[in-house]
Amino acid sequence: MSGRAGTSDNVITAHADVVYRGDGLGNRVSVFPATCRSGEHQLGQEGYRAVEHGGLVVVSCVPCATAHPGRHAWVLRVVGAATRSAELDDLPYLRLVAHAPNLRD
Ligand SMILES: [Zn+2]
Repeated sequence: MSGRAGTSDNVITAHADVVYRGDGLGNRVSVFPATCRSGEHQLGQEGYRAVEHGGLVVVSCVPCATAHPGRHAWVLRVVGAATRSAELDDLPYLRLVAHAPNLRD
């Protein structure tokens, strides 16, 4: 692992591993939670950004990024190669999403 650039106030740990599924054409698709970290929004409707960096994908909710800075994003651990597309689905993350408002950073 390389050192972290910038601030060192937070060590980022993943909430869960990324779930993957096939799209029927043999392509691997990333699945992200459909509900945002605060539990208030549906990412597909409100807008989200997924940024991969250092083996983690940060899926941040656009409205929460200003309303709840610091707890606006899911941090998911990438498993295997990166994918070109992603879907939103709460089903594989039900347990995570149910506890979303109570999660601590
Ligand atoms: Zn949100």
